[in-house]
Amino acid sequence: MNYYSTRSMGGGLPVSAAEAIKRGLAADGGLYLPERVPALSRADFDALCAMNYPERAAKILSLYLEDYDPAALLDDCRAAYAEERFPGGAAPVRSLGDKLYMLELWHGPTAAFKDMALQIMPRLLSRALSMTDEKLLAHILVATSGDTGKAALEGYRDVDGVKITVFYPVDGVSAMQKRQMQTTRGSNVNVVAVRGNFDDAQNGVKAIFADKALAGKAHENGFFFSSANSINWGRLAPQIVYYISAYCDLVNAGAVRFGEEVNIAVPTGNFGNIFAAYLAREMGLPVRRLICASNRNKVLTDFIRTGRYDRTREFYKTISPSMDILISSNLERLLSVLVGPETCSALMEELKTTGRYDAPADLAEKIRAVFSGYYLDDEETKAEIAAAWAEKGVLIDPHTAVGLGAVKRYRKETGDGAPVILASTASPYKFAPAVADALALTDRAEGFALLDQLSLATGTEIPAPLEEAARLPVRFERVIDRDEMPSVPFEIGG
Ligand SMILES: *Cc1c(COP(=O)(O)O)cnc(C)c1O
Repeated sequence: MNYYSTRSMGGGLPVSAAEAIKRGLAADGGLYLPERVPALSRADFDALCAMNYPERAAKILSLYLEDYDPAALLDDCRAAYAEERFPGGAAPVRSLGDKLYMLELWHGPTAAFKDMALQIMPRLLSRALSMTDEKLLAHILVATSGDTGKAALEGYRDVDGVKITVFYPVDGVSAMQKRQMQTTRGSNVNVVAVRGNFDDAQNGVKAIFADKALAGKAHENGFFFSSANSINWGRLAPQIVYYISAYCDLVNAGAVRFGEEVNIAVPTGNFGNIFAAYLAREMGLPVRRLICASNRNKVLTDFIRTGRYDRTREFYKTISPSMDILISSNLERLLSVLVGPETCSALMEELKTTGRYDAPADLAEKIRAVFSGYYLDDEETKAEIAAAWAEKGVLIDPHTAVGLGAVKRYRKETGDGAPVILASTASPYKFAPAVADALALTDRAEGFALLDQLSLATGTEIPAPLEEAARLPVRFERVIDRDEMPSVPFEIGG
């Protein structure tokens, strides 16, 4: 299976999956897409439903990564999704009643769904480097709104042949997210705060990738730049797995009849997670609609509803910071799939120069045929956290709460009572202050002691990695301006 750029499919040079994963971004600035989406037969589904999670992951990944040895993929998936990394299973499904099922994606080493991809991706990259005879080190650059940074650091730390630098917006992540990154171990890692918001950090990283002189300087220093952001295909492909896995689990449990349509709801920022759900649907998973949930930075809700993408608007810091994004990079993949690389390129060019674009009518229609968009502000988000706790005894984080609110609004607006799989993207303990606010906890403890208070008040457990982060010493405290970013990757050894 070959991969093409979203901006030059067919015309551009195809690359193998290993190349696509190694490069991250295509030379023309586009994102890599497989030349076709593999279809799952009924027999495939039956086989998948009989498997455990690592086997399902290996089977699905092998359809996209045809140049990888299937036995090696299975080894990697078994290691990545092992019990010691995901205690109790990688992607458990929990029923909330009313045919609503929460797909819990945060049982990994950093307590957010990014682990689902970032535990496997370094293994895929490591293999890609040897498959392509790469002599240089890969230097992973990450811009993070919080969860990706730590998940990437955990995935890549002390991996041979790789260095990693993580940039995060100085005031754009939660105290716990910041602490998790600042305390990272490993000799090949660097973590730097950037003044500005997530888009500033992300644009800074994109500028480094696009700079030919910097690439030359990197080569002279024995490395090349690669990405671990969700623009990398190696991040996206593993995310397709859990939607298919969740459906299998529901079929196995008798909650859903095979072939019965479900809806999938995803709290969305960069559009990676929901695009993976879209691909699962394209592969033949019986999915009626994809519910795209946003916070007050509702650029996607507006786009789905009006066809106009407009990032020239006020940026809000919310209690769901991993979704505080005005440029949803992976949306480009959907555009390219739906209207082709030429129109996609033109729209991306317009976005770059004017900050907005209008989807042609056929595109807007195609998007509305599958996607529904809803958003919640912070007060509404807290109300969902409180309601989930009061009514269902389930403690959820603000991102998941945005998703839950979107599901309720969708059901109310459409009357569609089909089963819903809601992606639950983080542990509530990663966002303890907002959750404590929502539950109106009184006599609030300071700092990380709040985690213990929340645990005591709700009888729920603090994930072990978060307890650890609160205790470990801080290693990385540097804050820089955006224009200083290009020099940072040349600073670490290892
Ligand atoms: C990254 C993240 C999201 C958004 O996912 P995208 O793939 O960027 O749309 C939602 N919730 C949490 C907790 C996240 O870390």
